Amino acid sequence: MKLQNKVAVITGAGSGIGREIAFEFAREGSKVCIADLAMEAASATAKEIVGAGGTAMAVEMNVIDEIQVEACVTRVLETYGGVDVLISNAGIQIISPIVDLSFENWKKLLAIHLDGAFLTTRTCMREMVKAGRGGSIIYMGSVHSHEGSPLKAPYVTAKHGLIGLAKVVAKEGAQYGIRANVICPGFVRTPLVDRQIPEQAKALGISEAEVVNNVMLKRTVDGEFTSIQDVAQTAIFLAAFPSSALTGQSLVVSHGWFMQ
Ligand code: NAD
Repeated sequence: MKLQNKVAVITGAGSGIGREIAFEFAREGSKVCIADLAMEAASATAKEIVGAGGTAMAVEMNVIDEIQVEACVTRVLETYGGVDVLISNAGIQIISPIVDLSFENWKKLLAIHLDGAFLTTRTCMREMVKAGRGGSIIYMGSVHSHEGSPLKAPYVTAKHGLIGLAKVVAKEGAQYGIRANVICPGFVRTPLVDRQIPEQAKALGISEAEVVNNVMLKRTVDGEFTSIQDVAQTAIFLAAFPSSALTGQSLVVSHGWFMQ
């Protein structure tokens, strides 16, 4: 097992990519904290992991609530005795041309992706520094950490921002053995993507099939969606990497949609 006895806090793990990462981490021996705004989904995920023989707890956490973030990590420390891995994954999407985008929606998206990444990083990093056993911080970026697309101004801005944060964490964390990296998936069929297919079709005046084939998959090498398993395996690779050689990087997992 690659993550035996490691403790991982995974935000947004009640659904989609985060949920699969939680399952795969548990299979690799990690104790996982499913931290999500949606408590019912978080509890269901934790229950399923425990039912399959893993170790998991669910905690209600809004990543932009400083008190909830700190309370969650305190519970993880009390329950599992430390934190070794943070997967900052919780996120939303808002589809809109810039000219129609409200300031409120701009701020909402930036807050969940960037304030959330900051608050969870600061809280976990403080504990990692105190414990002195290093750590791995992984941000869920996107191909949109490197590339722009119409209708996604705040998302593209936030995902680019995560790369900046990871580089600073990599530099500040190095002396404590803390690494920071960004995973940049292509389109993955999760509720976040399923919701935006009709929204993009409407905004672009094309069919839903055209959104899938011409917007989402056209530039991949094989016309395939990235899978939740693809992303989870990348997270395991990054979390289990044995040295600080791999830090401050972003890893694109997109079926060749974007090549660095
Ligand atoms: P999803 O909608 O399936 O899951 C997102 C989870 O985040 C949900 O469980 C939701 O309750 C939670 N969440 C939302 N706001 C929160 C908050 N304020 N505090 C705590 N939890 C909150 O979406 P997903 O596709 O699994 O997305 C996960 C991450 O992956 C996001 O950061 C997303 O931007 C990123 N991503 C997704 C894709 C894709 O194609 N699906 C591609 C690249 C990157």
